Amino acid sequence: MPLEDLDIHVTGVEATVRDTVHRFAAQVLRPAGEALDKLSPEAVIDADSVLWSVLSQYRELGLGRPDGDLSAEEQARLSYITSEELGWGDAGLAIAMGVSGFPRMVALQSGNPELVDMVKDNLTGCWAITEPDHGSDTLDFHGEVRHEGTSHGRPNVIARAHGDDFVLSGQKSSWVSCGTIAQAAALFCSVDMGVSELQKAVFVVPLDVDGVSRGKPLDKIGQRALNQGEIFFDEVRIPRSFMAIPPEGYDAAAGLVLTNANTGMGTLFAGLARAALELAIDYAKERKQGGVPIIQHQSVRSRLFEMFRKFEAARSLNRDVVLSNALNQPRLEYAIASKVTSTQTAFEVASEALQIFGGNGTSREYPIEKIFRDARASMIEDGCNYVLGMLAGTRL
Ligand SMILES: Cc1cc2nc3c(=O)[nH]c(=O)nc-3n(C[C@H](O)[C@H](O)[C@H](O)COP(=O)(O)OP(=O)(O)OC[C@H]3O[C@@H](n4cnc5c(N)ncnc54)[C@H](O)[C@@H]3O)c2cc1C
Repeated sequence: MPLEDLDIHVTGVEATVRDTVHRFAAQVLRPAGEALDKLSPEAVIDADSVLWSVLSQYRELGLGRPDGDLSAEEQARLSYITSEELGWGDAGLAIAMGVSGFPRMVALQSGNPELVDMVKDNLTGCWAITEPDHGSDTLDFHGEVRHEGTSHGRPNVIARAHGDDFVLSGQKSSWVSCGTIAQAAALFCSVDMGVSELQKAVFVVPLDVDGVSRGKPLDKIGQRALNQGEIFFDEVRIPRSFMAIPPEGYDAAAGLVLTNANTGMGTLFAGLARAALELAIDYAKERKQGGVPIIQHQSVRSRLFEMFRKFEAARSLNRDVVLSNALNQPRLEYAIASKVTSTQTAFEVASEALQIFGGNGTSREYPIEKIFRDARASMIEDGCNYVLGMLAGTRL
């Protein structure tokens, strides 16, 4: 049974959109996510995988495209309403859909029409920022959590200015979402502009150019429907115009992208927490022990209440942050508060839901163990929660 939404301001249009996306999540995402979860990482991206039809059905829904007729507030409300449903359906697939828009988002940020034209809104994209030797380091734009007197050391990817071009060499980490299938990357990397120190910049890179190769799709605990893997750059030559954000704009752009990404994670994983809670309530009404459905045992009811309370709190914080980002100056510390709250809540609620399913909770015949595994990955995804907390703490 779906939970009611506390929001008393939901308009007729919003309710219709929510119901449409919920149907997509229930009828397409949930079953596809469960099927993909059981496959090898290679089979997930096979030509006959259901993944491709899911991605094309998502594009047909037109959710990733902003509607110019709506106000910023209306767009923000629709974004949290629809993203929560996607996270409810399948977190890994929802991430694949969200991250696909990153190259276009960066192209739009650049204001360069050539780049905007190059990255259509229907391609599979990725956010290539972390590196084998630089995970948390890459999200610490201002060196706020770096120990005094130390440096982050040598980057794994460097773009060297060379006449009218840049030449890219090195590799991004095996964690890049959609890394082995993306057609374009929002590439955040070090840049050698011929001045004494390396700097940072953002590029939009089509991934079908000479010198780009991919790693093996990553085999991992959860969000298995989400393809991840390395991208290698072997002397890849791109025109200067592919630099979307130059070094002087890097910190601001990277901060804004992390703010948006963490806010989006806050919505998706509130959706996952809701999925786990709803499954636990349904199961508790069906499963009989001690002569009655287990929901009639006080301990089970109070555990369900704790899950419900945590979910509503995470959802509520996230909705405020989404609205505030859209209407005020976006603030990273609030986005991080939402990401950490939602992912921690998703993990705790999914873990308690698994407990309520008893032995069945551990079986792959039931949906909850997958949701639990999907939630676990989220506390590291888009930044380890502890490191994000330190970054946010420096802003208080
Ligand atoms: C599901 C998933 C999806 C992802 N998607 C993408 C993506 O699309 N693109 C991309 O580029 N990357 C992606 N990542 C990578 C992700 O951003 C990194 O895994 C994350 O930033 C942590 O980096 P790391 O794995 O290298 O861990 P490390 O940085 O090595 O951290 C290991 C441990 O050390 C701790 N630690 C590290 N630095 C500090 C510090 N300064 N102070 C205190 N403690 C510290 C951390 O808290 C952590 O517990 C994804 C990861 C996952 C799990």
